Amino acid sequence: MKIFVTGGAGYIGSHVVKLLGQEGHDILVYDNLSTGHEWAVLSGKLVKGDISDLDKLKETIKSFLPDAVIHFAASIQVEESTRLPLLYYQNNVSNTINLLNAVMENNIPYFIYSSTAAVYGIPEIIPIDESTPLSPINPYGTSKAMVENILDDLTRVSKLKCVSLRYFNVAGADPSGQLGQAYKETTHLITRVLKTAKGEFSKISIYGNDYDTPDGTCIRDYIHVTDLAWAHICALFYLIDKTVKNSIVMNCGYGRGFSVREVIKMARKVTNIDFKVEESARRSGDAPVIIANSQRLKDLTGWKAKYDDLEYIIKTAWEWEKKN
Ligand code: UDP
Repeated sequence: MKIFVTGGAGYIGSHVVKLLGQEGHDILVYDNLSTGHEWAVLSGKLVKGDISDLDKLKETIKSFLPDAVIHFAASIQVEESTRLPLLYYQNNVSNTINLLNAVMENNIPYFIYSSTAAVYGIPEIIPIDESTPLSPINPYGTSKAMVENILDDLTRVSKLKCVSLRYFNVAGADPSGQLGQAYKETTHLITRVLKTAKGEFSKISIYGNDYDTPDGTCIRDYIHVTDLAWAHICALFYLIDKTVKNSIVMNCGYGRGFSVREVIKMARKVTNIDFKVEESARRSGDAPVIIANSQRLKDLTGWKAKYDDLEYIIKTAWEWEKKN
């Protein structure tokens, strides 16, 4: 199959591109390389381009004529989105509309969209299933929910079929060590903990120790990036094989959670480094517990978790951090 991947040089996109290449697909990655890297595109061809550039986007898609589009390119920092909301609506919503215009013009039938658990906001019922009302609490989450709605409307009046995958906390690195997270800045817990172990930060702060959880710290559903990458491929083949009407959303997580303290303890075990930890104030907008119910993904697409093991997730991320 010919697959057009926006943001395919980024963290999650590059893991998906690697798997698609291994499966023998013909891939064209379209990435502005603002946070992605040329070295991360292990398969197919890379076109350096921005999804805001409608002419280039249309031209590239028209000449490649893909069977499917997987859309990762987006701005993804929650805190930044609260400071720069227009940037998030421009890049994540308006530029995605550009892409969808090109998709419609070329009658591309299948579309996989990177969404996020941030569309749920602070959910009351755990684990979270897809029927939970959307209530994002920052422009990042709102921008992703807006595109889910656009896709729903569009698929109702066209032949486009779409799966939006709502990612929970993505972590870890390619088990063979070829790929991993390589952002200039990151706010994510596992990466920050490992960078602290490496000595890049002097300490790791625990944001809040008075949550209503067993050890007082927030609980998250950490999913290995390679398992998440497989979810995209499963979702794509579900679209192709099954009679899917309109668009469908699917949670991507393991259905269990670890607290900030548990992550830190495991990182100490994996790295064998006794890095400094401090208790600090809550970070605004953090929900106490976020755990996915991913039954729909499993039932509909046949996806199975392979790396549901916090130690392994941290181990692969640590191997990557040590090298880079
Ligand atoms: N967290 C923390 N210290 C850090 C980074 C994150 O205590 O340096 C906490 C954060 O408050 C949240 C959890 O770790 O409860 C996961 O945060 P992350 O930013 O990795 O993902 P999020 O769930 O916010 O998408």
